[in-house]
Amino acid sequence: MATSSQSCGVCDLRHITKPSIVWCTECDEGLCTGCQEHHSLSKSSKRHNVISIIEYQKLPTDVQKITQYCSKHDEKFQIYCKKHECPCCSKCLVESHTECWDIVNLDDVIHNVKTSNALFEIEETLVEVAENLQKICQLKQDNRSTLKKKKMEIEKEIKKTRTKINNHLDKLQENLMKQVYEVEEKENLKIYQLVSSLEIKEKEIAEYQRNISNIKQHATDLQMFLLMKQIEKDVCSEDKFLH
Ligand SMILES: [Zn+2]
Ligand SMILES: [Zn+2]
Ligand SMILES: [Zn+2]
Ligand SMILES: [Zn+2]
Repeated sequence: MATSSQSCGVCDLRHITKPSIVWCTECDEGLCTGCQEHHSLSKSSKRHNVISIIEYQKLPTDVQKITQYCSKHDEKFQIYCKKHECPCCSKCLVESHTECWDIVNLDDVIHNVKTSNALFEIEETLVEVAENLQKICQLKQDNRSTLKKKKMEIEKEIKKTRTKINNHLDKLQENLMKQVYEVEEKENLKIYQLVSSLEIKEKEIAEYQRNISNIKQHATDLQMFLLMKQIEKDVCSEDKFLH
């Protein structure tokens, strides 16, 4: 019967808790110093294989859970059903495997299993699978670095394009501003010229105004008449000039 490996299975039955120092793989239980001595001398158990409890505890828990006893009937497994791929005690056989025809002695199946070809093949397969996994991991790592490289290239390309667009816009702005300045300068010149000629005309008109009363008094009618025509013509041309 499987017990906790910590305490002696035999002492447990007597409701005494003692730490086990060895594990009997036949009885599937731990034994304390006293019980181990008895176990190694007793006729029924002196050929049992025992290992130190430390070695036993190094086994994976899943392996520790596999016992030589049927948990349902508390009897030692003796038979192996190939159809259901399970070990059976004599009670299991009667209860659930009466229809099964491929029944063999458990000892025949597990005999020499540790040196069997099947185990060797499993070990080989494990090596192969581990190698394949490593290869796949390496491949994925390579993929990652390729991906990173690609990302950096695209990033660089985007920045380059951005700079190009910026430069283009700068140039466009510069050209437009240049045109605006040129137009302003040209128009300024026109206004300056216009204002200059207007000032000249202004002076001429002021001159007429200053002289007109004097002319009215002393010039002949003909002189006055022709002067009026002259002024009309001048003012008219000025009007045109303004519009
Ligand atoms: Zn004991
Ligand atoms: Zn034993
Ligand atoms: Zn059973
Ligand atoms: Zn079966």
